[in-house]
Amino acid sequence: MTIPSFETIQSYLTIFAAVTGALLAALWISLVIWAFRDMRARSRDPFAQLLAALVVAVLPVVGIIIYLILRPRETLAEAYERALEEEALLQEIEERPRCPGCSRTTESNWLLCPYCHTRLKKACPDCNSLLDLQWNICPFCGNHHIDPYQAEAGEGTAVPPAPTPTNGNFPLPIQEPEQ
Ligand SMILES: [Zn+2]
Ligand SMILES: [Zn+2]
Repeated sequence: MTIPSFETIQSYLTIFAAVTGALLAALWISLVIWAFRDMRARSRDPFAQLLAALVVAVLPVVGIIIYLILRPRETLAEAYERALEEEALLQEIEERPRCPGCSRTTESNWLLCPYCHTRLKKACPDCNSLLDLQWNICPFCGNHHIDPYQAEAGEGTAVPPAPTPTNGNFPLPIQEPEQ
C-alpha cells in the first residue's frame, strides 16, 4: 500500500472543500429564496419581503433564526380565511331571529321568549308544527281552523279577540293544542 502523496491529499481536500462550499452556497441561496417567498406569503409589503431575504442573506445562520422569530404569525391566506370565518359568524349572529319584546336573540323553534315571556310562535293544534303568530292556516297540514292565538304582549296587532281570557299580564301559559 502506497502512502498518498501530499499533493493527492491536498487535491482531495480541495475537492471536498469545493463540494462542501457549493452545497453550503446552495443551502444559503435556497434559504434566502425561501425567506423571500415565505415573507411574500405573509406580507404584501415589498420592503418587508426584501428585508427578510436580506437578513437571511447577510446573517447566514442567525438570520434565518431571527426571521423565524420575527415573521408574522399568519400567512395572508390564513388571515383571509380567518376574516371570512369571523364574517360568517357575525352574519349568523345577525341572522338569528330576535325577540320583538326584548331584542335578545332567540331560536327559531321557541314558542316563548324565555327572557321577557313574549309569545314568539304558536303551535298548530293538529300537527303541532310551529307557526308564525299571524298565520291562520297551517302550511304543514293545511288546517284552516287555527285560532289566531295572537301575541298577548303584541301591542296593536290587529287580530281577533283572544280565545283565552287574559289572566293578568303576560306571560300567559302556553296554550296546549287540544282537539
Ligand atoms: Zn324577549
Ligand atoms: Zn298543522
